Amino acid sequence: MIDLRLNFESTYLGLPTTFFTKLSPTAVSYPKLVIFNERLAIQTGINFSGIPEEDKTRFLSGNLVPAGIEPFAQAYAGHQFGNLTMLGDGRAIVLGEYISKNGDRLDIQLKGSGKTPYSRGGDGRAALGPMLREYIISEAMHFLGIPTTRSLAVVTTGETVYRDKELPGAILTRIAASHIRVGTFEYAALQRNKTITSALLDYLINRHFPEIREEENTPLALLNAVIQQQAELIVHWMRVGFIHGVMNTDNMALSGETIDYGPCAFMDRFAPDTVFSSIDHRGRYAYANQPHIAQWNLARLAEALLPLIDENKELAIEKSEDALNSFEVFYKERWKSMMRSKIGLCQAEPGDEQMITDLLDYMHQNQLDYTNTFCDLARDELPETDIYKTGYFKKWHTRWKDRQKKEERSLKSSRALMKSVNPAVIPRNHKVEEALQAAEEGNLCPFNDLVKALEEPYKDDHCLAPYQTPPLASEKVYQTFCGT
Ligand code: AMP
Ligand code: MG
Repeated sequence: MIDLRLNFESTYLGLPTTFFTKLSPTAVSYPKLVIFNERLAIQTGINFSGIPEEDKTRFLSGNLVPAGIEPFAQAYAGHQFGNLTMLGDGRAIVLGEYISKNGDRLDIQLKGSGKTPYSRGGDGRAALGPMLREYIISEAMHFLGIPTTRSLAVVTTGETVYRDKELPGAILTRIAASHIRVGTFEYAALQRNKTITSALLDYLINRHFPEIREEENTPLALLNAVIQQQAELIVHWMRVGFIHGVMNTDNMALSGETIDYGPCAFMDRFAPDTVFSSIDHRGRYAYANQPHIAQWNLARLAEALLPLIDENKELAIEKSEDALNSFEVFYKERWKSMMRSKIGLCQAEPGDEQMITDLLDYMHQNQLDYTNTFCDLARDELPETDIYKTGYFKKWHTRWKDRQKKEERSLKSSRALMKSVNPAVIPRNHKVEEALQAAEEGNLCPFNDLVKALEEPYKDDHCLAPYQTPPLASEKVYQTFCGT
């Protein structure tokens, strides 16, 4: 058997021991490979060639931990819907850091791998549907060009998990730049020992922000860097209509990747207050609220860093407030620039923001599909539908055409810009649910077809029409569930 330890390291275990618990996954009865991401395996060099299929499946289920690998669960805290809780990997285990063939350090984590000291009464397991949902959406995000954790494989365990009904158990192999969260810093701060937070800060900077190592005030520089990185990430989400669903501080990764796909979904028709999560009754994590929540989460990071930012608490607060206030300004600029690109504009002109808002208002009032409307605008001719023939829209359209003439670029390159930022295909929730339901019944064809369709999301291809059509009233999925 080829040695799976090759290229494995565990630098995380060099942190103070309070940050993790070493333990192995709990073995499962009958692991069976459901899907393996060959493309990702090739891209990263995670190579199972020459390894018997059975051993590969055993590895991906946690049943086989090659000698020399030291798996561990990470400790963290987190504000969940605004309330601080001690958490940690309650159903996940990091096998270690794989050094990819490009030299990237990637956490390999098994999600659904059994109980840990952080399970808090949970069973440590995951169900097939939610793990396949994470697989689909994380891969879709990757192909949309959005920083995200990736999915290498899903195996079923041969065991049943009990939720509101009996479900097939499964384990997802997640590949991530790291799993350090805002909540990891909250956890560190709760230890009330500056050296603990300091150790985590050094680790994070070395792993993800080496360029700020020489800054005078590294915690403040880190805060500023994370603020910009998160603003960029949320702008991406807003661009494609992605709603994370549980933006708790433990679900905000400091690698800048989108992480933890629970009740997330993509918006069909444009409505800023769209919420999918079944437990988000107040719309805390609604589409339009995501930038505010990101800023709120970053304030929690700032709080954890305060003692390191300045020994004088007042001064520390002042400095971090300045940093936090920059989020809004930076986000707004990046959002405007992104929205301009969605309508093919590169330069900034007065009146652009109003024009964008007017379009969004029209889409909202008329329940237009977010994805398809921008695709329509990028076409040579608008489709012959009544919605584009109203007086209001015609006026808007003329205004937009006049504005386009002010651009230095040609109409052709303006269209190319639109096509590069407006996806033609997104994982529409009804299609995702359809694929998951079939998979749970043993039919993986719709799942595989959907995954394939999402690999080239900016290509407007006729054969992808089934994935581009918004749901019929009868097909609409209003809620998705997390923690499953
Ligand atoms: P999530 O909503 O997936 O981000 O999870 C929030 C917290 O609950 C994390 O600490 C998870 O590890 C933990 N958790 C979620 N589901 C389970 C489960 N079935 N068993 C144990 N812990 C869980
Ligand atoms: Mg989580």
